[in-house]
Amino acid sequence: MRVVRFETPGGERWLGRVETQSGHDVVVPLLAQRQLPGHDPLREALVMGIDLAGALPAEAVLELATVRLLAPTASPSKVVAIGLNYADHAKESGAAIPERPMVFTKFPNSIVGPGENIVWREDASRQVDYEAELAVVVGRLARDVARDEALDHVFGYTCLNDVSARDAQFADGQWVRGKSFDTFCPIGPWIVSRDQLPDPQVLRVQMRLNGETLQDGTTSDMIFGVAELVAYLSRVMTLEPGDVIATGTPFGVGFARDPQVFLGDGDVCEVDIEGIGVLRNTCRVSG
Ligand code: ZN
Repeated sequence: MRVVRFETPGGERWLGRVETQSGHDVVVPLLAQRQLPGHDPLREALVMGIDLAGALPAEAVLELATVRLLAPTASPSKVVAIGLNYADHAKESGAAIPERPMVFTKFPNSIVGPGENIVWREDASRQVDYEAELAVVVGRLARDVARDEALDHVFGYTCLNDVSARDAQFADGQWVRGKSFDTFCPIGPWIVSRDQLPDPQVLRVQMRLNGETLQDGTTSDMIFGVAELVAYLSRVMTLEPGDVIATGTPFGVGFARDPQVFLGDGDVCEVDIEGIGVLRNTCRVSG
């Protein structure tokens, strides 16, 4: 199942499923956002235990191409990110291989959906970089779960671009500001449910910048895999339905290249993960 949040041409917002019918993709409206009390329909549907795979269509299906996709999870309680989780990326960053997961955060204000712009002011950063990552979306509350049960708490997976202002990130002594600019956490285009990706450690992860492949890794190279990360985090922090875990980026980020590559106005980033899809966002820089 592919779960989406979308807006109809008439401006109504829904949670739905993408299905392939007669060879093309349609969206099946399941829950209207106006029927839900809060701001994050996915989180609420998960908390209420709604069976999104089994839910009947609430209205007629729409062609996927006619709707605007939104960030599948809009305001999770937290976005937990893992730094330096691929050995060759740690090496290109000049960092040691971490002995335990290197945990930081991206605040939820940074979330945008597929097709939305990544926006910043030139005087706020001149070194904005991309990071293609597999994102885990939590499905069931996880508190002190064992590693072999950790994946039971995962709802599914999506693509995430851990956009990073390197000048801010490295100037501050910790990473929060450089990682949490508004719009610096594109996610989507949809969440692929866990049953479709039973082994998250076999997925090819790519980043294309204006069509050129700059990262091409595989989640099999993660130092700490998804199950281990969920278990590790849940030992000290309760993971709630809808929470997002960004699992780290493979080799090939812009600041570590020679010559360095930083994002500029009009650049198009594509995170492409095997079995999930492509997350595409354009950069807009103001003076
Ligand atoms: Zn990252």
